[in-house]
Amino acid sequence: MKQNVVTDEYLALQRGVIERQQEAKSRIQQQVLEEIKQWDDEVLTLPVVPQSSIPFNSDQYQEVVNDMIDYLKETTTGLEESLNQLQTWVKEAPIKECMKRALEFDTEYFLSEAEKHDVSPWMPHYIAEQALRPFLQVVAEHLAAKKLPLNGEKQCPCCGEPARLATLEKSGEKWLACPRCEMTWQQKRLVCIHCQYDNHDSLSYITVEEDEIAHAEVCSHCHKYLKVIDKRKTFVKKSTALLDLETIHLDFIVQEEGYKEARDDDEGVS
Ligand SMILES: [Zn+2]
Ligand SMILES: [Zn+2]
Repeated sequence: MKQNVVTDEYLALQRGVIERQQEAKSRIQQQVLEEIKQWDDEVLTLPVVPQSSIPFNSDQYQEVVNDMIDYLKETTTGLEESLNQLQTWVKEAPIKECMKRALEFDTEYFLSEAEKHDVSPWMPHYIAEQALRPFLQVVAEHLAAKKLPLNGEKQCPCCGEPARLATLEKSGEKWLACPRCEMTWQQKRLVCIHCQYDNHDSLSYITVEEDEIAHAEVCSHCHKYLKVIDKRKTFVKKSTALLDLETIHLDFIVQEEGYKEARDDDEGVS
């Protein structure tokens, strides 16, 4: 089966967004770490960010939102008018509310904002989400250093994203990895992350021709899937966001076979 289900333009655009997020992360890092210092004395409830009062500075968030819009303006053609409308919306948008709704992955909220302000339907949520990621990534790095006792959580312990990607490490261990905030946590090899069913017969694998590195683990019990990247077969170190992006073809194939993404019938992150 062919791998290029997504256009090269889309991949290039997303790669650029990921680079911008890395730059934004360095800019905001110090302040975010300052804001979450208070957590050092607290017992943290998982997932950590949705369970806390959101510790991010809204002016900084707005700056990253603007930066993302500028990037889209520089690199896309034919979207000028929509992007101008988006910019007008952002100037007046309740930025704290946007941050909260982005964290909750509240698509409905952004769709209704788009409709009210005559903005392309996909844009507000896309921008709000992409701008949130650098903040989440700083928190994830901080949490990883704390070495919390994590094992097989089905939601990202940092941002609450349902688990959808794992890596097989050189040691043979299986680690879940969040494309949204880059948090990683360990999982048992032969257990379905979504329904925890551990009957070995219920898990099977879907592979793509000419791709030895990525496959999907599908569960006949709950009909959900997990993408798995075999790091033993690659020496190139990539972010989880990039691994997720470069395996989008696998999502299409697996969903065509009737398997669902973890988010499909969940209520999103809580
Ligand atoms: Zn996460
Ligand atoms: Zn399952």
